[in-house]
Amino acid sequence: MRTRLITLLILLSFTPQILFANGKKVRKIVLDAGHGGKDPGARGQISSEKDLTLDVVLLLGKMIKESMPDVDVVYTRTIDDYPSLVDRHEIANRSGGDLFISVHVNSTAGRTERIKTGTKLVKKGRKKVRVPVYKTIHHRGTSTSGTETYVLGLHRNSQKEDAIGEYSDNITDEAGMLNTNDPQTAIIIAQYTQAYLSRSITLGNKIQQQFANQGRNDLGVKQKGLEVLAGSAMPGVLVEIGFINNPEEEEYLNSNRGQKEVAGAILKGIMAYKAESEK
Ligand SMILES: [Zn+2]
Repeated sequence: MRTRLITLLILLSFTPQILFANGKKVRKIVLDAGHGGKDPGARGQISSEKDLTLDVVLLLGKMIKESMPDVDVVYTRTIDDYPSLVDRHEIANRSGGDLFISVHVNSTAGRTERIKTGTKLVKKGRKKVRVPVYKTIHHRGTSTSGTETYVLGLHRNSQKEDAIGEYSDNITDEAGMLNTNDPQTAIIIAQYTQAYLSRSITLGNKIQQQFANQGRNDLGVKQKGLEVLAGSAMPGVLVEIGFINNPEEEEYLNSNRGQKEVAGAILKGIMAYKAESEK
């Protein structure tokens, strides 16, 4: 019992070093193109989400290698196939990535409208009465536009904690015999998770800032319990690069210029984050 208390105190005194001496350098970035293969994601009039996310991710990977030669890029997919979310976490965690960037394309839910198009006469008993005629129209399009970035919400952190406990050398090496049922481990993991969350928010803000600089509508950084982010043992964001059911944005996202700008905004956001965290 006493040994345990001493161990706990020693651990707590080491915790800040364990937490903050490591993991601030950005040397490996995991890029995740949303959806793929059998899962097209959201559909627009001329394209599917899975193709746009892959285009942007491959371009972003190229730009990262050119602009940051000290950084390795790991992809969860480079072709039109579908790694499951578990596969994506595995790829991310096994690679020992420092950042996880998932790219998606937004879509709003369709809207159904019933409009009166005229009237007609119908028999009602012996009389004929005039009744309105309606038509139902499904609107798939939207005028909503812009980009938003999600970071992991706290309510999904137990899954993230498992991933950290399983893969992070920083915890297991420094602390030795830690196991996840141990209160000491719980403290360290909770602090790790908090550190990841705040770094993810910092990164998200920097990426959104770059989009805003380009004149895109800034829908902000949001917290959400996203499965794809919850399983990775590293800070991570999910970037929604525009609305596929907004015809103007869909065209932009399909253009060379649009894809270059989108990848460029994420790149500059990462570079700003890297510069700040390695300072
Ligand atoms: Zn998506």
